[in-house]
Amino acid sequence: MTLFDTHCHLFDDKFSEDLASVVERARAAGVRRMVVPGVDVDTSRRAIELADRYPEVYAAVGIHPESLADWDAAVLAEIEALTAHPKVVAIGEIGLDYYWDVAPRLVQQEVFVRQLELARNVGLPVIIHNRDATEDTVRLIETRANGVTGVMHCFTGSIETARRCIRRGFFISYGGPVTFKNAENVRKAAREIPDEWLVVETDAPYLSPHPYRGQRNEPARVAQVVEVLAETRGQTLEELARLTYDNAHRLFPRVEAGGSR
Ligand SMILES: [Zn+2]
Repeated sequence: MTLFDTHCHLFDDKFSEDLASVVERARAAGVRRMVVPGVDVDTSRRAIELADRYPEVYAAVGIHPESLADWDAAVLAEIEALTAHPKVVAIGEIGLDYYWDVAPRLVQQEVFVRQLELARNVGLPVIIHNRDATEDTVRLIETRANGVTGVMHCFTGSIETARRCIRRGFFISYGGPVTFKNAENVRKAAREIPDEWLVVETDAPYLSPHPYRGQRNEPARVAQVVEVLAETRGQTLEELARLTYDNAHRLFPRVEAGGSR
């Protein structure tokens, strides 16, 4: 089986002691590609360092809505400069977070829109974070993305929301929450996502899938996500692994196609 973890934060301090064995376990589980999204300038740089160190790791660069406490427009120029690196494959993660509300909502929206514009200028897809902000997130995608495509990271919404995103060229990414026992509503939407728009992720070190819920998550466990999705959708493991792997390459065209089956 060949797997693609489209979202893992390998720069997190929780991996500082044993990152080499985390990557080893990912390889052993069949994970051939990983995208590491930054959440601010510093972690975007660290994501690029990891991409330089590990052949199967790629980076995304961007400002997360939780990183806007001391927002300064100058950081966007730094993010733009980082996109020159050949293993930077997306702008992310970016979006809106009305749960933590670290910055005023209008500021979050402005920074989100400016990063959508940056993505268009540099020709990269975007990785979208949305927490308790579905209406505004989808509205800005519909009105301000202007042809930029990307992925709805760790999607837990309805099939109606998914369809609005797909219509704009956005892939739907499932992670640990789709495996949780009480997540029948998440699986209900997952069942109806068309094959060609589905991708998978871990969001490591967060959101470990069942039966590891609550533990530190790692890319090897994208296998559990694939397993539950396959069962939910009535597909074989191999079929689901192959289609999510191929879709992730369509989502991130800069990721090298090698290392496949
Ligand atoms: Zn994330």
